[in-house]
Amino acid sequence: MPCVMLDVHSTLAAAPAAPHVVRREDYRPPDWLVPDIALDFDLAPGATRVSAKLSVTRNGAHDRPLRLDGDALTPVAVAVDGKAIHDWRSESGQLVIDLPGDAHIVETEVVIAPATNTQLMGLYASGGLLCTQCEAEGFRRITFFPDRPDVLSRYTVRMAADRAAYPVLLANGDNVANGDGIEAGGRHWAQWTDPFPKPSYLFALVAGDLHANRDSFTTMSGRVVELGIWVRAADVAKTAHAMAALKTAMRWDEDVYGREYDLGVFNIVAVDDFNFGAMENKGLNIFNSRYILADPDTATDVDYDGVAGVVAHEYFHNWSGNRVTCRDWFQLSLKEGFTVFRDQCFMADQGSAAVKRIEDVRGLRASQFQEDAGPLAHPIRPESYMEIGNFYTATVYSKGAEVIRMLHTLLGDERFRACTDVYFERHDGEAATCEDFVRAMEDGGDIDLARFRRWYEQAGTPRLKATLRHSNDKTVVTLEQSVPPTPGQPVKQPMLLPVRLALIDRDTGAKRGEQLHVLEDERAELSFSGFATRPVLSINRGFSAPVVVETDRSQADLAFLSAHDDDPFARYEATQQLMLDTLIAAVSAGRGDHAAVVNAVGATLVDPLLDPAFVAEAVLLPSEAFVGDQMLVVDPVSIASARDSLRMALAQAHAAEWQRLYKSHSDRAFEYSPAEKGARRMRNVALGYLAAADEADGARTALAQFEAADNMTDRMGALGTLANGSSTARDVALAAFHDRYRDNALVIDKWFSVQALSTRPDTGDAVAALVRHADFSLTNPNRFRALVGAFSVNQRAFHGSDGQGYALLAEQIVALDPINPQTAAKMVPALGRWRRFDEGRQALMRAALERIVSTPGLSKDVFEQASKSLG
Ligand SMILES: [Zn+2]
Repeated sequence: MPCVMLDVHSTLAAAPAAPHVVRREDYRPPDWLVPDIALDFDLAPGATRVSAKLSVTRNGAHDRPLRLDGDALTPVAVAVDGKAIHDWRSESGQLVIDLPGDAHIVETEVVIAPATNTQLMGLYASGGLLCTQCEAEGFRRITFFPDRPDVLSRYTVRMAADRAAYPVLLANGDNVANGDGIEAGGRHWAQWTDPFPKPSYLFALVAGDLHANRDSFTTMSGRVVELGIWVRAADVAKTAHAMAALKTAMRWDEDVYGREYDLGVFNIVAVDDFNFGAMENKGLNIFNSRYILADPDTATDVDYDGVAGVVAHEYFHNWSGNRVTCRDWFQLSLKEGFTVFRDQCFMADQGSAAVKRIEDVRGLRASQFQEDAGPLAHPIRPESYMEIGNFYTATVYSKGAEVIRMLHTLLGDERFRACTDVYFERHDGEAATCEDFVRAMEDGGDIDLARFRRWYEQAGTPRLKATLRHSNDKTVVTLEQSVPPTPGQPVKQPMLLPVRLALIDRDTGAKRGEQLHVLEDERAELSFSGFATRPVLSINRGFSAPVVVETDRSQADLAFLSAHDDDPFARYEATQQLMLDTLIAAVSAGRGDHAAVVNAVGATLVDPLLDPAFVAEAVLLPSEAFVGDQMLVVDPVSIASARDSLRMALAQAHAAEWQRLYKSHSDRAFEYSPAEKGARRMRNVALGYLAAADEADGARTALAQFEAADNMTDRMGALGTLANGSSTARDVALAAFHDRYRDNALVIDKWFSVQALSTRPDTGDAVAALVRHADFSLTNPNRFRALVGAFSVNQRAFHGSDGQGYALLAEQIVALDPINPQTAAKMVPALGRWRRFDEGRQALMRAALERIVSTPGLSKDVFEQASKSLG
């Protein structure tokens, strides 16, 4: 109903400039609860009127006032129990009302401007749509509310809008009424109710000219759920893959976790301007369009996998996040770590589990291990923050998922499932904590996790040293662990590490002593007998613990494991370790002995029993950044040159094999299946090596592939190879690609990235020119990440000794900050790694950080990241 309140007050005072630090130990239950809220939106991009009616109840015995969070809100009116009031006050952006009794109806009315909301938090406009993003603290930019995840409310939402511009009106829950009502001038309205109490961060609303791919799903108890994926009319054809993934994920969650969907409707909307990948709002997921739209012409296999993984992830949140939510933002890993683990297992079940594990570990090492080793290191459950937006990190997500995976490993499939049943049943409808999760594991699994809790408390990647002694008939494996100091945590306790290991007889290939050893102390000795000669140690099989492993294994041991280990991850790891050892030796000696790697890769290439998808991963060299992570001082120039020459050696030594593999995996029609994905991966890895051996010949092959490709994976594989070289074919392909996809923003993102990731020496100059390109934009986070984000992880280009890369990144962060502080802050950690480099680069990186910190009017998002990075 329309609001009748009439009082007009001046704008609330702005929040104080000095960033406030929020600490986990200061948690206190909410003073007031809001069991019900009715929202009424009169939608228009320039001025949207939001009326809110909150039923509030005092929580416990106290005399504290009601405090409603607001961010940049101007109250038009405030009323209590139907009467306008004037004696409210504002404190630090909060609307404060003294209330005498224990239960009241509080009404507020505000006007907000979605069209000028470039932060993309709260209600904003994107490509003709009006949509919301509330996690973590966006709801307070829409209306006054106790905007914290432990205040759970039942929502009723009514919205009215111009029918022509916004024919579709969506919100959480079920659509209960629609009409033209009393609204004049072509306006219409819709009402939605969500019966499940939820925190404000899960609120969502979308209005726009949207078209749906509609389907349905019958749940395990026989209820029919209407499914809709809403996009622009022209994009409906690109939603089939997402819809298939959604239905597969819904079935998987029933089969594996016994979790059934609970509403009659499940909607997904794709929007172009989005700070995250996607958002799990109850019954109305909102997605970055890159994680919904896919067809062979515009999406690579990585994109297809991304769509399936993110659709599953957001769907799984309906239980791990929505039905059981977080008590406060320090518990973010409760929902994210668990849900990432769930989506990783789901994707492993859809294709090659071995390749999926390799990809996940590679991602963990590239982002989380670096974070854990730098100035922004924090435990998966942080102790304090200035801006919670900065804690949507690889640590909370990816390391959080590894922590859940270790619980799964310790408990086994069946007991883990029993424990998650305990967790869901015990906490359904509640705002829970990480501690609640661990206790459910202990109670359901009859296991003592006292030491395991250190994973929630200590930052830093543990180091596990494994040594093997063999004499006569006796073999002893010694395990020693240490956790490096991190900011604020100089001394660490030993962690509980589930270490899967086995010994392999070098002569017979027989495996013995395979076990899961739970290392709880700093050191342990494991004794084995029955090996006539010194066996080979296969350790951290399946990457059972997220640690850095150091061993005394020889080149011969690693080569043996690379050819014979029956654990695919350990086999991959042995090859990678051989490559790393070779590259690190080459960096310090100036030239490398490539023989061991060349032989190991040769053996892998011709092994008929191996899946091509696995081979393609196993023969790739570690990234330059990962090599740098193993060194005391990162030397980007020497690392690039060592890696280039090892790559050249592999390319030349196995030239005939690369040719054979390239040809045998060519001339196949597109199909999105594990086998065809593997074939495309192998073909494009082979193409890269062909071009490394002979650039001119490789460029000809790549251009032919580029022109003939019937799918984006092959087109991008060719373009990536060409982009690293200097052939005329490079310019031809880049121009043709831009021309063909000039109207497809997601594909033009790839055009920017492929240039920003190039190994060419002039990449810094190219990026400096691309930030001035007509298609570059600060208002679209995907575009910013595609160019500036990609450049910042291109070690050889970004860390040029002249500091051009650092200056460019600082300039872009400063330019983006007033528009979108959240996305700007995510780019700061690339400069925060300054301690890892030589003195010259250190000075240049610090200067770039100082330039950022000294910028007047900096957001608290960027201020927190940059000031912590300076140390
Ligand atoms: Zn999530």
